[in-house]
Amino acid sequence: MTEQDFPPLAFSGCPLDRGEAIRRDEAAMSALLTQPASRRIVLRGGEPLMRADGRLVRYPLTDPEFAPEGDLVFLGFEDNCALFAGETSDASEPFEDVRFSDPRAAGMRLEAGESGIYAFARSLLLWRERRGFCSNCGGRLQAVDGGLRRDCPACSTFHFPRTDPVVIMLPVDGEHCLLGRQAAWPERMWSALAGFMEPGESIEEACAREVHEETGVCVDHARAEYVASQPWPFPSSIMIGLIVPAATRDVTIDPAELEAARWFSRADVRDMLAGIHPDADIPPKIAIARRLLEVWAAR
Ligand SMILES: [Zn+2]
Repeated sequence: MTEQDFPPLAFSGCPLDRGEAIRRDEAAMSALLTQPASRRIVLRGGEPLMRADGRLVRYPLTDPEFAPEGDLVFLGFEDNCALFAGETSDASEPFEDVRFSDPRAAGMRLEAGESGIYAFARSLLLWRERRGFCSNCGGRLQAVDGGLRRDCPACSTFHFPRTDPVVIMLPVDGEHCLLGRQAAWPERMWSALAGFMEPGESIEEACAREVHEETGVCVDHARAEYVASQPWPFPSSIMIGLIVPAATRDVTIDPAELEAARWFSRADVRDMLAGIHPDADIPPKIAIARRLLEVWAAR
């Protein structure tokens, strides 16, 4: 069994045609804002407005309900119709089976593809909110390319949305793998080790550095195996999932990062996946950490 046999990860699989060419055509972008077939999705405080059936709610642009504050951002095309996203401050309660959902819960409840659209919209809108002014000269920025770029008219600097890479990895040694737990996590919870990449390092080097910093374990990073990646819109990470052979086994944790690190057997991991382990749990299906464990346990 390989990662291809598993369902898509939450927040991935955005099915939209992102309309690369039309974004640069200002007249065409303006026209999309007046087309009756164009739709918008709604976020409030970063939470998506969704239906009980796992779909995002789509409004015609002229519909006054949950009107957007500020400009809409252009997400792309679905079935040749433009889809935008806007952040609303309308505090009214939605009707019937429609509601604003906690972002992580939405990742679990939204259909495949819909959660990818949401991740794109959430990261883009959060970036826009934090990037009102130029980090070079302090000038007010203007949205271009449907919101996928923000330009400074004063100093001509272009600003692009951030995507922050995070390595998340499962060091393995034969029939065992290394998991960590942080003090703030729920009791029994264990997960894959993870950390932000730093400038000037490869993915494999970041993997080796993080494992060693957090647990003292050395890995054979030249043999790190890429498993999967996942957009993680909190606010704008890309999780890069790896399985990596360990070169040493002794654990010395960094107490600033972890409360404990522990080698678990493949049988342990299968029990954790089944929810029947006597003293350990792993993250839910929304998390790529679980996918790494699923892939390794199935080997
Ligand atoms: Zn500037």
